[in-house]
Amino acid sequence: MIDFSYLAKIIRENRTFLITTHVNPDADAIGSEVAFYQILKKLGKTAYIINHSSLPYNLAFLDHDSVIQKYEAQKHAALLEGVDVLAALDLNNPKRLVRVEEGFVNSSRTKICIDHHQNPASFVNHYFVDADYSSTGQIIYDLINETGIVPLDYDLALPVYAAIMTDTGSFRFDKTTPAIHIIVARLLEAGVDPNYVYDQIYDQSHFGKIKLLGESLSSIRLAADNQIAYMVITREALSRSGVQEAEVDGFVNHCLSIRGVKIGMLFFELKDGIKVSFRSKGKIPVNLLAEEFGGGGHVNASGIRLAGATLNEHVQQIVDAAEKYLVVEQK
Ligand code: 5GP
Ligand code: MN
Repeated sequence: MIDFSYLAKIIRENRTFLITTHVNPDADAIGSEVAFYQILKKLGKTAYIINHSSLPYNLAFLDHDSVIQKYEAQKHAALLEGVDVLAALDLNNPKRLVRVEEGFVNSSRTKICIDHHQNPASFVNHYFVDADYSSTGQIIYDLINETGIVPLDYDLALPVYAAIMTDTGSFRFDKTTPAIHIIVARLLEAGVDPNYVYDQIYDQSHFGKIKLLGESLSSIRLAADNQIAYMVITREALSRSGVQEAEVDGFVNHCLSIRGVKIGMLFFELKDGIKVSFRSKGKIPVNLLAEEFGGGGHVNASGIRLAGATLNEHVQQIVDAAEKYLVVEQK
């Protein structure tokens, strides 16, 4: 249970806020940041959104006032100590802040975390966290709805809708409850156009991205009696297609569209290391698989970043490690 009145109290009793989110932000990360920013702005507060990563181009429509900044130590380090409150949204481990981590963790200001992942690390003063939520955006919606801190208008409804739509897999994942659809009804009443939001997020791909998707689909291999499917994207393929890391978001889901596959994986070569995305069906806990390698996430969607690791060394090892989680489903 989240104590929304306490969150509202922190908002009311402070003046300046710095909002941040995880590396490679998705629409839940950006949507919740923008919605939280809008609440603060409507209350006359001073707020900044400062992220490790730059804003993915398909989410730029959520930041029409261009308030989101990419972290630069020279410009922003002092701000981490200069505001009243630091707010980490849509993450539960400071490692995911990357370049913002050090300044965030060492800051003496009040720190809050608003998130929907399980088992948060110890890194803030106040947690507004509940893993029963579909998305961080839904938590921001409840803050508005339960405390009436500001009225719901289009500026809030749009980013909240984008957050909920994407983190529920366009209203199909487990946490797509009647309550979610009731929230969505309120967001549509506030003027959100579902067609527009879907088109902005998913149907504005660069041609190179679709070509890379084709290559990634061709790279799929099956393992463990065809119950695991995995794809690989090399640095070379990425640079050849001119695609950004964030654009690869969602490729891994194609692994789960193969009949009989219960775990999907995407191995992505980084400048120095690899990133792996895991997806699963049913009760298969890929968060535990990610945790084995120092990562984390949700039961059905998790990930890891392994600095210094190579595809050669790790693909087979991680596929092998995944097999034991298939058993869980059969119980
Ligand atoms: P994605 O595969 O889309 O990058 O990540 C899926 C989910 O896995 C994210 O929503 C996040 O919860 C989690 N995740 C991804 N990468 C990491 C990581 O490096 N560390 C942790 N703790 N969680 C991650
Ligand atoms: Mn999220």
